[in-house]
Amino acid sequence: MASPTRDTDPRAFIKSFGCQMNVYDSERMGDLAGQAGYAEAAGVEDADLIILNTCHIRERASEKIFSELGKLRELKEQRGQMGRPTMLVVAGCVAQAEGAEILRRQPAVDIVVGPQSYHRLPQLLREARIRPGVVDTDFPAEDKFSQLPASRLDAIRRRGVSSFVTVQEGCDKFCSFCVVPYTRGAEASRPAGAILDEIARLAGAGVREVTLLGQNVNAYHGVDRHGQAIGLAGLIRAAALMPGIRRVRYTTSHPNDMSEDLIDAHRDVPALAPYLHLPVQSGSDTMVKSMNRRHRVADYLDIVARVRAARPDIAFSSDFIVGYPGETDADFDQTLALVSAVGFASSYAFKYSPRPGTPAAEMSGQIDEAIKARRLAVLQELIEDRRQAFNRATVGRRLEVLFEKPGRREGQLIGRSPQMQSVFAEGPRSLIGALTVVEILAAEPHSLRGRIVSPAS
Ligand code: SAM
Ligand code: SF4
Repeated sequence: MASPTRDTDPRAFIKSFGCQMNVYDSERMGDLAGQAGYAEAAGVEDADLIILNTCHIRERASEKIFSELGKLRELKEQRGQMGRPTMLVVAGCVAQAEGAEILRRQPAVDIVVGPQSYHRLPQLLREARIRPGVVDTDFPAEDKFSQLPASRLDAIRRRGVSSFVTVQEGCDKFCSFCVVPYTRGAEASRPAGAILDEIARLAGAGVREVTLLGQNVNAYHGVDRHGQAIGLAGLIRAAALMPGIRRVRYTTSHPNDMSEDLIDAHRDVPALAPYLHLPVQSGSDTMVKSMNRRHRVADYLDIVARVRAARPDIAFSSDFIVGYPGETDADFDQTLALVSAVGFASSYAFKYSPRPGTPAAEMSGQIDEAIKARRLAVLQELIEDRRQAFNRATVGRRLEVLFEKPGRREGQLIGRSPQMQSVFAEGPRSLIGALTVVEILAAEPHSLRGRIVSPAS
């Protein structure tokens, strides 16, 4: 979106829920809204177009949307009384999963658009102005990404020095608990040339770090500019060579797609940051099997060891689900043991949430909410303990930090270490966007405090 130039310019506000892919999609919807004449609104109150880009991964995520929509209906009515119509759009995975049901539960919604058809937003806005209540949850044949307008340079600059780039979407894995294969559809990879062109544009606008995104990013299988097959490792190597790009990350990976080639890239490509989010979900073979993850816990540990051998300073993080159907205390203890054994730098833990239409929702042995809550608390405490231990171990070390923005206090800068830790230090704003060596002085609860020791490179 462009910055507002006149008070009368229509404005759009986009609120993103859930994963990083939604953050990326929201940025692209911002580009589309800009193309349709909308400037960026500061908040929902002054927005003529409000888009909720939703997440359906857990029940609470979708219920949050409906309660948000209730509040927005009131706002829409108030603005309507002042002669300012408001267009309300529900996008993302709740839109895909619930479709027209959203209009039934909340008639104030004007447009429901799924993650595979949001490139049609300008056309849907035109239709909804004539006849509100448009639903588009198609999985269209055309390539969404090739239909999207290039992001405007001013919009990229506002994003800062680190940016997401979606390279792959959808999933064919069908883990028993997960809605993603149903809401995002089958796995599809963007052509490498289009991705590299996008990265070049980002780098030209000041982006220094790119995170290659996909629901199953390491299953990426695209074609290069010569029509030859290219995997994620090849894409990483090419992205790391782009002028201006200093760091490359990728997420989220499935253990079964950690190829030799990709592990080698961790050894050979210095710009590939030593951080890997590799969800394992549970430390119990019985659970992992029932989840249809198609690997054993030992296979996971073997991958961790091989990646560590390739890149010894690498940090790992994972996702865990507690209270999956049939999970016993002994299964849960194995998850705790795995967390201690790997020494994750950070991790996310979730209570299992039955998703309609997924096999696990129909399984016997559903776990009581109180047990789920207790296990979640125990696991989160252990994860936090490990995270702090990992952070404490960096005190006294020198890390290469990419400063991203000014901190809350005057003269402070905030950035990230190669291992994704948040780091702050005193320094001039001119260091934003530069890799700077920082000595870590202390591990505070949510970030590391450091001292700049070398000029930027
Ligand atoms: N594709 C990634 C993978 O294979 O690990 C993750 C995708 S999903 C958006 C992110 C995380 O949400 C999953 O790793 C899982 O831990 C969690 N999740 C997915 N479905 C869930 C459910 N029904 N209940 C609780 N957590 C869930
Ligand atoms: Fe969901 Fe499993 Fe696919 Fe990840 S790999 S998106 S958890 S089905």
